[in-house]
Amino acid sequence: MFGLRAPEISTGHTGSYYAASVNRKTDYPRLEGDHTADVVVVGGGFTGANLALELAERGMDVALVEAHRIGWGASGRNGGQIIGGLGHDPERFVKTIGEEGVKAIYGMGLEGREIIAERVERYGIECDLKWGYCDVALKPRHMKQFAEWRDFEKQIGNPHTYRLLDRDELKHYVNSDRYLGGLYNDGNGHIHPLNLCIGEAAALEQLGGRIFEQSKVTDIEYGARTVIRTEQGSISAKRVVLAGNAYMGGLVPKLATRVLPSCSSVIGTEPLSEEMAREILPGDVAVCDPRTALDYFRLSGDNRLLFGGLSNYTGLEPRDLHGVMRKKLAAVYPQLADVRIDFAWSGWIGIGINRMPQLGHLSDNVSYIQAYSGHGVCPTHIMARITAEMLAGDPRRFDIMASIRHMPFPGGKLLRRPGLALGMAYYKLLDAL
Ligand SMILES: Cc1cc2nc3c(=O)[nH]c(=O)nc-3n(C[C@H](O)[C@H](O)[C@H](O)COP(=O)(O)OP(=O)(O)OC[C@H]3O[C@@H](n4cnc5c(N)ncnc54)[C@H](O)[C@@H]3O)c2cc1C
Repeated sequence: MFGLRAPEISTGHTGSYYAASVNRKTDYPRLEGDHTADVVVVGGGFTGANLALELAERGMDVALVEAHRIGWGASGRNGGQIIGGLGHDPERFVKTIGEEGVKAIYGMGLEGREIIAERVERYGIECDLKWGYCDVALKPRHMKQFAEWRDFEKQIGNPHTYRLLDRDELKHYVNSDRYLGGLYNDGNGHIHPLNLCIGEAAALEQLGGRIFEQSKVTDIEYGARTVIRTEQGSISAKRVVLAGNAYMGGLVPKLATRVLPSCSSVIGTEPLSEEMAREILPGDVAVCDPRTALDYFRLSGDNRLLFGGLSNYTGLEPRDLHGVMRKKLAAVYPQLADVRIDFAWSGWIGIGINRMPQLGHLSDNVSYIQAYSGHGVCPTHIMARITAEMLAGDPRRFDIMASIRHMPFPGGKLLRRPGLALGMAYYKLLDAL
């Protein structure tokens, strides 16, 4: 069932529903010749585009350099689920960041959805933004976990509504016999991620930011001014931020050993009738189950069911992607077992060993942001904001994140994937119990 097929690497977008339904195709120039800028951001996903936009909003001279197209990486391929929070269990780092640091991270975790809402509103970005989300339970212990999550969100001051739902109540939001109940909240939601990312880049351009596509950075010359080079051009900058995440390859070996590209996949059905769409997801919410290799799904703006799953530390997608994903979908909605599948695609999630975003400095003027470990739509927006604060002279929030240590994955280049695949198999086994 599993064959050797890595997520598509090309200059166009992957064959996703999102790429087929963009508001506009981007066509920014390649980087050619020698340029200067105050800040260069490498990587045109949510992290890079938002960081560049934050800086342009502060009046800074910024250039964004993307190897493929804006949103080509995980940001333009994901499940589109807006999920609050930042990383996992910041309490683990209390010795390093103190109680105030832990509190600050919980505070940041509430900001992502606000930043997205603000971007959509201020720049008029059409990206099918909708609020409403359900965690769904497959085991009785999940319901217990959800009650704890709800109480915890209250405790940290989350202002949104959290409601525990029994099996029948859940059916008003997610109408599947598979689930025992769920946890609804109106703070999370869903979007067309590629249209959001392209809209954010367009806002950057409007504010005078320069954008280069199809311009892969192949070399970094560190110095008083750092120079990044592509095949046909270069930019010399006072500050550089690397935001290539799981797709950055070996450009900076130290960063590559700390982020593991893990493969996740999504299918998009044909547009469903209005009746069928309301039957399966009456609440039009985004949905996730709490397993390690979870199912996540939602309706698109044109009533397709976008159904995602798999989490594969080998970084490879199953050869029979349609078949594997159709089986998962049918387990949730048997009435859709024979639905036409119009799209199937995969992408790389940047996993970090301790599941906290990785921020830091490689030199006096080169910094990086990477590794959101699965949930990045909100955290990318938050990390971009705090990095912009740092570059504009207020490093307090950046420094909290940067003081968390991130170890490389053990096993070196050859053994870290098999080692982690084994670890994943163990967690999948626990999920099945
Ligand atoms: C299938 C899938 C489903 C997901 N679902 C969700 C979800 O529903 N909700 C959620 O919160 N998160 C989800 N995620 C995770 C989320 O998409 C990511 O955490 C987030 O998009 C990361 O954004 P980024 O900008 O850091 O990286 P990316 O979006 O991957 O962007 C990095 C960019 O850098 C560019 N780049 C790399 N190297 C270079 C170089 N040398 N020169 C120039 N450019 C370079 C790449 O081409 C790429 O475009 C999902 C991820 C995947 C793959």
